[in-house]
Amino acid sequence: MKLLREWVQALEELLFPPEVPCGLCRERPSLDVGACQSCLDALGIRWEKRVLGGYPYFSLFPYLGFGRDLIHSMKFQGRTELALTLGVLLGLACREEPELAKIDLLIPVPLAPGRLRERGFNQAALLADSIRGVWKRPICSHVVRTRETRPQSGLSLQARKRNLRRAFAVLPGVRLQGKYCLIVDDVITSGQTFYALARLVEQYGGKPVGLFAARTELVGSGGDAEKL
Ligand SMILES: [Zn+2]
Repeated sequence: MKLLREWVQALEELLFPPEVPCGLCRERPSLDVGACQSCLDALGIRWEKRVLGGYPYFSLFPYLGFGRDLIHSMKFQGRTELALTLGVLLGLACREEPELAKIDLLIPVPLAPGRLRERGFNQAALLADSIRGVWKRPICSHVVRTRETRPQSGLSLQARKRNLRRAFAVLPGVRLQGKYCLIVDDVITSGQTFYALARLVEQYGGKPVGLFAARTELVGSGGDAEKL
């Protein structure tokens, strides 16, 4: 009898797989991508390519409303499991994007050691890990932040330039020459951090491209508006 019951249960699970909850709301059943339709709608997902200071970057949804709340929960309330779902969404989008097929490695935007200790994790590194789960690309962790930078908001353009100058470095032993490097972070706001890192990658002979879960509409799409 027991065997028959187990067999019936196995058959039921095969025909009607148990519902996996959405990785973002934990309430509704998830679609194949790891989130439910309501959450995807609320995020306003639209895969976009823009260019900043000559460097192309891709992003998935606007940094507004639900999307902004999710990023805040992930970063400031330690809800790191959200990075898993957002990373899967990003990885699937990358996999479908012909322009990204040439990417050789992922570079998560590094956090300063002090900030990392405080927060306990780097959201960019978590995203990159999760992206790698669905889109096989190696992660380069040889790009580091050498010093703490002050928050960029409220600073003049000149001050922002000074603030980010020499904030990042490439550790010895890594070759970026000729490699397409995807710089990964949770959100692009002013674009200054992305620009500073992209320039560094370029100085080492790499070809930088950006990838962000969320974008603010403040970032110029025309190219050189924010060039530093
Ligand atoms: Zn949901």
